[in-house]
Amino acid sequence: MSQVLTAESTTQQQTTEVFDALVIGAGTSGLYELYLLTQQGLNVRGIEAGSSVGGTWYWNRYPGCRLDSESFTYQYAFPDDVLATWNWKELFAGQPELESYFNEVADHYNLRANIDFNTRVASMTFDEQNNQWTVTAESGKTYIARVVVSATGLLSAPIYPQISGMETFTGESYHTGLWPDKEVTFSGKKVIVIGTGASGVQVITEIAKDVSHLTVFQRTPNWVIPLRNRPLTDDDMQRIRAGYPEMFPKLRNTWSGFLHSWDPKPTTDYTDEELRERFETAYNSPGFAKWFGLPNDIAFDDVANQKWCDFMAEKIHEIVPDPELSRLLIPNHPFGAKRVPCGTHYFELYNQDNVELLSLAEHPILEVTSTGVRTPDGDIEADMIVYATGFEAFVGALNRMDITGLGGAKLRDKWEDGPKTFLGLQVAGFPNLFLIGGPHGKGGHGNSPRCAEGSLEWMALLVGKLARNELTRVEATPEAEAEWTETVNASGMGGFMAKTKNAFFGDNVPGRKRAFLAYTGALPEFDERLRTMAQSGYPGLQITA
Ligand code: NAP
Repeated sequence: MSQVLTAESTTQQQTTEVFDALVIGAGTSGLYELYLLTQQGLNVRGIEAGSSVGGTWYWNRYPGCRLDSESFTYQYAFPDDVLATWNWKELFAGQPELESYFNEVADHYNLRANIDFNTRVASMTFDEQNNQWTVTAESGKTYIARVVVSATGLLSAPIYPQISGMETFTGESYHTGLWPDKEVTFSGKKVIVIGTGASGVQVITEIAKDVSHLTVFQRTPNWVIPLRNRPLTDDDMQRIRAGYPEMFPKLRNTWSGFLHSWDPKPTTDYTDEELRERFETAYNSPGFAKWFGLPNDIAFDDVANQKWCDFMAEKIHEIVPDPELSRLLIPNHPFGAKRVPCGTHYFELYNQDNVELLSLAEHPILEVTSTGVRTPDGDIEADMIVYATGFEAFVGALNRMDITGLGGAKLRDKWEDGPKTFLGLQVAGFPNLFLIGGPHGKGGHGNSPRCAEGSLEWMALLVGKLARNELTRVEATPEAEAEWTETVNASGMGGFMAKTKNAFFGDNVPGRKRAFLAYTGALPEFDERLRTMAQSGYPGLQITA
C-alpha cells in the first residue's frame, strides 16, 4: 500500500509515518475499528489524545461515574476469551471497571502496540492529487494514510460556563469530563457544583456523601430516574453469559440497543389502576426500563407524557417533603425532552442539612472570585468548584480539529449552520474520511457499542478496499448528503427534545446555531440500510476505482 502513497515530507521530517489507515480515538468505537482493520492485515495506526484506551471511560473518571446501560449489554459482542471470562461486578458498571475492561480488550488483541497515545490531532488535510490524508498532531508529528476513521467521540469536547473570574479561583476546580487521574477528596471541604445533567447527578451524589457543605447550582431541573444498581454474583454472571447468543442479536433489534423496548401498549389501553401499577413496576425496575420500556405513547403524546410526569413528580414530593425544595427539583419540561439522567438516592440528598440547592434563575452567579462565587445574595465560599456543565456534543471533537477537504474547504465552515452528513458516516467534499459517533449517525449514542458496531463493520469493508488500493476515493454525494441532513433535521423537530435547549440541538453551547445533531430512528432500520447499500453498489456514495 505505502508504495502508492507519496510521502514527500518523509525526507525532510523524520516524524512523518505512512499507514494504510488511521483511526483517531481509542474509545469504544475506535478500538473496535482498529481491531476490525488489523484483522484484515492492514497497516493501521490509532491516534489517541489520552495516555490509555477507553475514551469516555478514560476521561470521565469523576467519582460516581457509571453506566446506565446494563454492563453486559455494553461490552463488545465478538466471541473471544474476554467475552467468555469477563465477570461484570455490577449491573451498571462504574468507570474503574469499564476502564479495566477496555484495557483488557486492548491487551488481549495487542491493540495498544498500534496506538500512539498522548497524541492529539490538530489538523488533517486531503491531498487531492494523491488521494490521501495528511494528519498532523499537536506535537508536530505527521501521518499519511489513504483513509481516516474519526472515532473522536460524541461527548469528548467539554464545555465550561462563561463566567467572569473563573481563572482567579484559587481552590481546586475540575470539569467532570476532564477529571484528573488522582485522588480527589471532599471530606471537610466546601464544594460548589454547577450543572445537574447526567454527570452532575452522579458526581453530586458522591460528593454529598462526605462533604462539609455542598452548594448545587441548577439551571434546569431534570427527571432523574432511580438507576437501581446491584452487585452481580457468580450465579448471575453464569446465567447472563449463557444468554449471550440470544442477547446480542436481540439488542441489535431494539430501537437504540438497550435491553428495554417501548411497551407496544399505549397508556390509553390501560385503566387508571392498571397504569398506576404499570408505572410502579417500571419505576422499581433497573435502568432505562423507566424510559424506553414505558408505554410507547409517552414518547410522543403530550397527554401520555404528562401522566408519567405527574407520577414522577409525586415520587419527588414523597422523597423531598419540603415543598420549596421539591418545587425546584421538579422539571416543567416533558419527560425525555432532555436526556434523562439515572441516579441513586439523588433527590434524597437534598434533604441533608449540609446540601443546598440554588436555582440559577433565582440566584445567578455574577462572577467567580478567588474564594468562591458571587451571587446577588452574597458570596459563597468554596474549597472546590466542580463544573458538570457538559460537552459540545456530536460536533465538538470534529470541529476542534482543523479538517480541510477538497478545494481547501474546512469542515467546521461547512457545518457552521449545522452539520451536513450522509448517514453520519461521510461528508461530501471530504473523501476517504469516515465518521463514527459524530452528528447524524446511529453509532455512538443509545447503547453506544450496540449502536456503533453495524456502522463500524460497514465502514471496515470500505476502509479495507481503500487501504488495499482496490478503490482510491469514497465520498458522499452532495444529493445524498442533502437528503439525509433534511431527514435528520425533520426528525428532530417532531420530538419532545425540540421543546428544550439541549445538547442534541447544540444550543447548550453559547452562540451555536440550533440544528438537530442526532439520528433518532431505529437501530435495525439503520443497520438494514447499511447492509442494503453494501449489497447494491453503495447508492449515495461516489466511488472511484
Ligand atoms: P449535560 O447533560 O449537557 O448537562 C450539563 C449541565 O450543566 C446541565 O444541567 C446544564 O443546564 C448545566 N449547564 C451547562 N452550561 C451551564 C452554564 N453556563 N451555567 C450553568 N449551568 C450550565 O452534560 P453531562 O451531565 O456531562 O452529560 C452529557 C452526556 O453525557 C449525557 O447526555 C449522557 O449522554 C452522557 N452521560 C452518560 C452517563 C451514563 O451513561 N451513565 C453519565 C454521565 C453523562 P441546562 O440543562 O440548563 O443546559
